[in-house]
Amino acid sequence: MKNKILVTGGAGYIGTHTCIALHEAGYEIVVYDNLSNSSREAINRVSNLIGQPIEFIEGDIRDAELLKKVFAAHDFFSVIHFAGLKAVGESVAKPLLYYNNNVSGTITLLQVMAEYDVKNLVFSSSATVYGDPETLPIDENSKRSCTNPYGQSKLAVEHILEDLAVSDDSWNLIPLRYFNPVGAHLSGQIGEDPNDIPNNLMPYISQVAVGKLNKLNIFGNDYPTVDGTGVRDFIHVTDLAQGHVAALNYLEQKISLNEYKNDQEYSVGFLPINLGTGKGTSVLELISTFSKVSGQAVPYQFASRRAGDIASCYASADKAKELLGWEAKLSIIDMCQDSWRWQRQSPNGYK
Ligand code: NAD
Ligand code: UDP
Repeated sequence: MKNKILVTGGAGYIGTHTCIALHEAGYEIVVYDNLSNSSREAINRVSNLIGQPIEFIEGDIRDAELLKKVFAAHDFFSVIHFAGLKAVGESVAKPLLYYNNNVSGTITLLQVMAEYDVKNLVFSSSATVYGDPETLPIDENSKRSCTNPYGQSKLAVEHILEDLAVSDDSWNLIPLRYFNPVGAHLSGQIGEDPNDIPNNLMPYISQVAVGKLNKLNIFGNDYPTVDGTGVRDFIHVTDLAQGHVAALNYLEQKISLNEYKNDQEYSVGFLPINLGTGKGTSVLELISTFSKVSGQAVPYQFASRRAGDIASCYASADKAKELLGWEAKLSIIDMCQDSWRWQRQSPNGYK
């Protein structure tokens, strides 16, 4: 079985959940992470949940020499590439850091992959590459444009992957464009662990509910949406994790067909796929569901719009269903319940 996977950024929020899903699906994993936004405790908890130690290498994707050693020591079928910085505000303040980490880091990784002839990649892209969408739901052919360095770094990597696929059809490259990942593992043992005050809505709501923060600011109540607040396509991180397993299965199938029939028709090339539920939920709707399932009040006040925010964003999830046979199963209630369980059990995250 083509089953060994290098998971860069595997100690992070989406990476940890995906490691569990990969293990359950029979894949062998090697995690490579510089722990710049995660901790060994996250790796320990994943090991406990899967009942065996995880092979973990503390390293940076910009460190070509270390990457080469890792590739020389393992026969990888594919890389799942989560490693990257993700804070939009920080990216505006520190653009060079973001381009260096997210773009140069990915180039270094791709160069080492090429050297060791590992040409299958699943990449963490984002719905942010669509900017302010012209039509909804957003499908994969929608125009791409970004307004901040974080988004630009994702778009730049997508362009690099596209060019690479054109240059050599032995590359199989799947950027998964995540919508808004939320929720946590059912055990409550792993979840999102933001540094400082959260930027994103769900961890902010959870911290208000648990009493760590006083009040949520809702950024804008005058958008052209169902209740004036922003609408997003929230997706449970466990569903998202399964989307990666489905992408690997797809790669395996295509590559086997390609080898068997010797027909490039089966090469994957550059294949962007949305991972979303296809449903939009407003900020007020999310708060109301969270309050109901947690039994906690979530005090809020309306504040002005946040710079760079858009009114509505939700996916067309048809391509993922058609090609990968994947669709999101978990509801907004599940997302709130699981975020709340993680927040209650680990009010200080992994610390
Ligand atoms: P995260 O910060 O929890 O995980 C990213 C991991 O990458 C961290 O463990 C961090 O230590 C590691 N890392 C960062 N730079 C590295 C480097 N140079 N070398 C090695 N490791 C490095 O973030 P996440 O929410 O799990 O996101 C994973 C990926 O998905 C990121 O690329 C992010 O941009 C993308 N994404 C996230 C969201 C979201 O809302 N969480 C949405 C769309 C896309
Ligand atoms: N939001 C909010 N208050 C917060 C954080 C977010 O009202 O403290 C809103 C934000 O304006 C957007 C939605 O919640 O409409 C989702 O924001 P988030 O940062 O979680 O994700 P984004 O879609 O912006 O990446």
